[in-house]
Amino acid sequence: MEHPSSNQTRTPPNVHQSEPIPDAARAAVEALMQSGDLFRYTASENAPVTLLEQEFATHLGSKYALAVSSCSAALFLSLKALELPRDARVLIPGFTFAAVPSSVVHADCHPVLCEVGENYRIDLTDFQDKLDDTIKAVIVSHMRGHTSDMTEIMSLCQARGIPVIEDAAHSLGTTWGNKNIGTLGQIGCFSFQSYKMLNGGEGGIMISDDPNLIAQAVIMSGAYEHNWQKHASCDSELKAAFEKWQNQLPLYNLRMSNLAAAVIRPQLPELERRVRDGLANHDHVAARLNACDYFDVPAPLPQEKRAPDSIQFNLTGMTDELITQFSALTAANGVKVQIFGRSEDNARAFWNWKFLPNQPDLPKTRAMLMQACDVRLPVQLTEAELDIICDILIESATQVMAKTAA
Ligand SMILES: *Cc1c(COP(=O)(O)O)cnc(C)c1O
Repeated sequence: MEHPSSNQTRTPPNVHQSEPIPDAARAAVEALMQSGDLFRYTASENAPVTLLEQEFATHLGSKYALAVSSCSAALFLSLKALELPRDARVLIPGFTFAAVPSSVVHADCHPVLCEVGENYRIDLTDFQDKLDDTIKAVIVSHMRGHTSDMTEIMSLCQARGIPVIEDAAHSLGTTWGNKNIGTLGQIGCFSFQSYKMLNGGEGGIMISDDPNLIAQAVIMSGAYEHNWQKHASCDSELKAAFEKWQNQLPLYNLRMSNLAAAVIRPQLPELERRVRDGLANHDHVAARLNACDYFDVPAPLPQEKRAPDSIQFNLTGMTDELITQFSALTAANGVKVQIFGRSEDNARAFWNWKFLPNQPDLPKTRAMLMQACDVRLPVQLTEAELDIICDILIESATQVMAKTAA
């Protein structure tokens, strides 16, 4: 007898479809079209970029925010603001997007990679081993929104006086204990690229409570002359920092356009719903996959409340050959499963970062990447659509495993 949903007509959902941009954005964009006021520093106050910075900082509970052209730009400016000397060593996880080691190279520093475990989180033993006196900064990349043990990482780094930058590109809405991810380190960086929780096409933002770091980043992002005066939360401490850095720093021009801010701002009120639905969707799929012997969806850490828009899971008991068959069969059935280490030139596999001066050897991370699967679950998917994805994954794994048993 056939499983009720495994008939020929089921159509897997398009997991690359974005949620529509809220209507309120149309009016804001139309007003900009009328005025032509697209540059953040033309208006003396209340430019959309400035308002986005204020609203974002308030939402996250941080003192300052700086909106820029991408999360990569935010990471680069963060490293520059830390005043790291040329060739400084920066510790980053071995499982992240290529943009992260790239931002380190861009800042004339050397990325040092540490192992990441089967649960996609930083391996604390290797992290501690590599956190020696040669490390001048740490970027914790919460890859796919998986939070590493931030309590332990912050205490190890604080003990050595090493600054921590959080790459929270994919973690907007995630909390650790009662704190927002991105507010635990000295600086938190977020992305507004289309596959993230707030879709600006492109864009990024950094948050910090440190006026000295933000003042430098604002100037280097392209606040030439006295444009820093147009930044909203310009309290006396920040003003003193701006005055200190006036004319002292290069201008990299990584600003955000008012157009991007106008598209992003009306999505902020949607964030809570997106986070809630994303987590419910993820947990529904995780429960179904975990009930099947061939899948393991690692649990979140106890302090972590996640905000996922995708799911990652490990394949258990499958040989290389079977993993390849599983990947082909799911694709044939209409569900694209990315196995990080197996697709050609994957930007999340560290061995493809050939631009690094030293090719790292991370056997644990490599083993994880060779079987860890990634499926997008945009927050607007319905339970019926999620179940089609689950059915295809489970049936494909069952078929592949049945052939070997026979
Ligand atoms: C998307 C992403 C980035 C890069 O963000 P951009 O805004 O495209 O530069 C960096 N790190 C992680 C973990 C990401 O998910």
